[in-house]
Amino acid sequence: MIDKIVLASSNQGKLKEFHQIFSAMDIQILPQSEFKVSDADETGLTFVENAILKARHACAATGLPALADDSGLEVDALLGAPGIYSARFSGAGDAANNRKLLQQLEQVPSAQRTARYRCALVFMRHAKDPTPLICQGTLEGSILTSPRGEFGFGYDPLFLVDPELLEGRSLAAAELSAGQKHKISHRGQAVADFVKLIENYLR
Ligand code: IMP
Repeated sequence: MIDKIVLASSNQGKLKEFHQIFSAMDIQILPQSEFKVSDADETGLTFVENAILKARHACAATGLPALADDSGLEVDALLGAPGIYSARFSGAGDAANNRKLLQQLEQVPSAQRTARYRCALVFMRHAKDPTPLICQGTLEGSILTSPRGEFGFGYDPLFLVDPELLEGRSLAAAELSAGQKHKISHRGQAVADFVKLIENYLR
């Protein structure tokens, strides 16, 4: 019987979201910081690999089942960069990441600025679990030439959401409320998939 799960992240927003999901199943979700778990080395080359590494690391350190996610931005004109390196693209935080992205796309016309966010969510029952539960989501869009909006985080001010997902409206991810973004986002989709699958998986 599973009654506790470790979240391989200390992000309060993620913790709150998963707390709601698991409380309906009578399962407690605890941040890995409560167990003084260090950050895992993200040495994988894909989002799924890195999410597995993070979940396995948290399972091994705590002896409990663990949930981890890994996400990032994939820009077609940059052959998928920054990808798994999204958080560390410039080595100097979100604002510098956005400046570097704009610089690299300076000569790229708008039709060729297509991009997407990706998220991989992984649940493992123990560190040697041979069949992790893997859920993924994507959010299609393109990269603007200057920032817009004040919500969200990371690349959201430069990420124009595909208008087809917003009934034809042209909005940057940073112009959406958290609720609006969650309904269509890469993370929202991975979480929705996870909610559908987890009960059967734990049976
Ligand atoms: P992590 O999955 O928490 O390691 O985040 C990876 C990085 O990808 C973040 O630091 C952001 O740079 C970028 N990223 C992932 N999802 C989003 C999003 O929804 N909005 C903006 N940036 C994102």
